[in-house]
Parts: sequence; structure tokens; C-alpha cells
Amino acid sequence: MKNAQCTKCLKKFQEKEIYTIQQFQYRQIPTYKWSIEYFKKIDIDEWDSFCENCLMEYSKQSKEIWDKLKNLNS
Ligand SMILES: [Zn+2]
Repeated sequence: MKNAQCTKCLKKFQEKEIYTIQQFQYRQIPTYKWSIEYFKKIDIDEWDSFCENCLMEYSKQSKEIWDKLKNLNS
């Protein structure tokens, strides 16, 4: 049964396939603390559910912003 829905693309999928930004705890760069702040600004919190594709997109996007900011500061 497909009873979960992606907050971004609205695609339906099975509950066990839910991804959240809590996933980013496991990456070192950007730091999780920074990621949380970043997503808060674009209205995403730790409990929003996403499909794998959308989470990957956010992963890429946040890393790009992080890199950009890092370059500005150096
Ligand atoms: Zn999605």
C-alpha cells in the first residue's frame, strides 16, 4: 500500500521508503547543524517526508550553497 507522500513532488510511495533531512546527519559536509538551519530557511523541517529523488536533489543543492558560501568567506 502506498500511503506516504513526498512533500516536494507529491509522489506517493511506501512508508518504508520515506526519506527525511535527518539523513544528512550522516554526512560530514555540510555539517548537520548547518543543514538544519539551511532547510529551516526554505521551510523544511526534520519531519517532512521526501522520496529518494527529492532528497538527493536537496542534498546536492545544499552542498552547492555550502560551497558557495565557503568560497565567499575565504
Ligand atoms: Zn519527491
